[in-house]
Amino acid sequence: MNLSSLNYEDLDRGQLEKLALREVCACQYYDLADCLDATSDQELIDIITHNYDCEMCGRKSRRQGRTS
Ligand SMILES: [Zn+2]
Repeated sequence: MNLSSLNYEDLDRGQLEKLALREVCACQYYDLADCLDATSDQELIDIITHNYDCEMCGRKSRRQGRTS
């Protein structure tokens, strides 16, 4: 599946949760699983598209491409 071709707004909540759990950084997997219900659709999309920084392992957002 090519994630970049998906329109995330068209996915239902269950699909978003499933994709987010697959794409989330491994060190945040259990945190996400614990608080899925409290995570907004937009936050799930950010996780799926790797549009976030992981503070635990320093993984950077792909989309923003920060240099510092
Ligand atoms: Zn991480």
